[in-house]
Amino acid sequence: METKYIFVTGGVVSSLGKGIISSSLARLLLSRGYSVTIQKFDPYINIDPGTLNPYEHGECYVTDDGHEADLDLGHYERFTDIRTSRANNVTTGRIYQSVIDKERKGDYLGKTVQIIPHITDEIKRNVKLLGNTGKYDFVITEIGGTVGDIESTPFLEAVRQLKWELGKNALSVHLTYVPYLKAAKELKTKPTQHSVKQLQAIGIQPDILILRTEKEIPVSMRRKVAQFCNVAPDAVIECIDASSIYRVPMLMHEQRLDNLVIRLTDSESKGEPNHSAWNNFVHKLENAEKTVRIGLVGKYVELQDAYKSISESLVQAATYCDHRLDLVYIHSEKLTKENVEEKLAGLDGVIIAPGFGQRGIEGKFVALEWCRTHDMPTFGICLGMQCMVIEFARNVLGYSDANSTEMDPHTAHNVIDLMEEQKSVTNMGGTMRLGAYDCKLKKESVPYLAYGKEIITERHRHRFEFNNEFRERFENAGLECVGENPETGLVEVVQIPSLSWFVGTQYHPEYRSTVLNPNPLFMSFVKAAIANGDKTRKDDNL
Ligand code: GLN
Repeated sequence: METKYIFVTGGVVSSLGKGIISSSLARLLLSRGYSVTIQKFDPYINIDPGTLNPYEHGECYVTDDGHEADLDLGHYERFTDIRTSRANNVTTGRIYQSVIDKERKGDYLGKTVQIIPHITDEIKRNVKLLGNTGKYDFVITEIGGTVGDIESTPFLEAVRQLKWELGKNALSVHLTYVPYLKAAKELKTKPTQHSVKQLQAIGIQPDILILRTEKEIPVSMRRKVAQFCNVAPDAVIECIDASSIYRVPMLMHEQRLDNLVIRLTDSESKGEPNHSAWNNFVHKLENAEKTVRIGLVGKYVELQDAYKSISESLVQAATYCDHRLDLVYIHSEKLTKENVEEKLAGLDGVIIAPGFGQRGIEGKFVALEWCRTHDMPTFGICLGMQCMVIEFARNVLGYSDANSTEMDPHTAHNVIDLMEEQKSVTNMGGTMRLGAYDCKLKKESVPYLAYGKEIITERHRHRFEFNNEFRERFENAGLECVGENPETGLVEVVQIPSLSWFVGTQYHPEYRSTVLNPNPLFMSFVKAAIANGDKTRKDDNL
């Protein structure tokens, strides 16, 4: 079948969940046997979000091929199990960079380089890149930002042209917001009408409208929206606030969004959908009775999107263990020797979060010392793993000045040090150790038992590493290096085997955890946390 292009835009306000809608639609089409990919076009000028502070746009997601990507790509992978790549996330910066590179090479010789057609052509070329591989029946393209933003205008112009060129093979899905005015006790569709008018003024007629709302939208109101916006009545779909993002695919299916897309794009049917694995997950999620309490120690806790992949990995693991997740965010800057017991004692397990820089790091050491001496199931990820090593060096090996050279470049005990290949790096963007690398696990270690195999692959994003000069001293004192890169010998996993579950990974297992394939190490950690909680409660009852 010819590749169909679906464009998802948003209006009225930002943060409506275009990523979740795109992912949900992809999930529904996959369940019907189509091959699908999702890509995101971000209107900001940064080349990629790698240099952005998490307070700006939340977590930076990393793909297998080492692209630092928008966090929506995390949703795409979690919902679809399809790996994304550099081609799935393009920014204005990337588009301009490529056009300017071409101009310097002389590709446009003699011509004035302009937004239309040069920038828009480059956007169109990128939109079609994945479709042109012939691998996909559907390419869903999410356009970041809100209709009417100055910076998204070239993207929308490209969508207008593509819709015109592709005819039935292109579809426009527009997501808007229907606010509920409490004082008037009324839902209001005027902002949606305005947003559609704005889209139409650009030359894009939406084919499907999805209305985000807190309250049910009556059929008569949906009909009114259809009439005002030149959209078929069954193409006005309500997206009511759901208890979990993982409910959204079924909410959309109940309103026949997938049928609509297939009908409007004239796609051949591939048979009846199979949602059983997905529904099994959602059923478990909604019916878990017991709770597992995990604490996440980090410095970006005011903005929970900063740890999106970790929190979703925990939700997935807890769900498959038939538990509800109670995730407690603990600000590492506020953690002290005086309050650590009060903050951590009631938890079943603790995660020490990834991060960069000095701020909040001492709180991570305080947490780790408490966890290590109280046999709390503890999972250190990236900087969290590095902190595990430093805390052990300070408090067990007795190197009071032990540190990472990221925090103290002159320490005599540089147990975490800059990787050799990083020493000559001066540019900040896209220059870390990024993407998927193999790791060889020590037999019978916690990660080996979790993954059930010796060689695994996980994704990375860091500049610093465990300093192998100290390896023997750590191992003799009880902190073992149980995973390493088979080619370079870089330490990827540490564990204290005398404790029930105390593991740190230099890699980020959260980037590869999906709804249908939860990450084995998160599963193992959550199981250990549940066992710890059960044991503590039993001891308390004695
Ligand atoms: N700042 C550390 C490094 O660069 C850890 C990075 C991270 O946690 N992602 O090595």
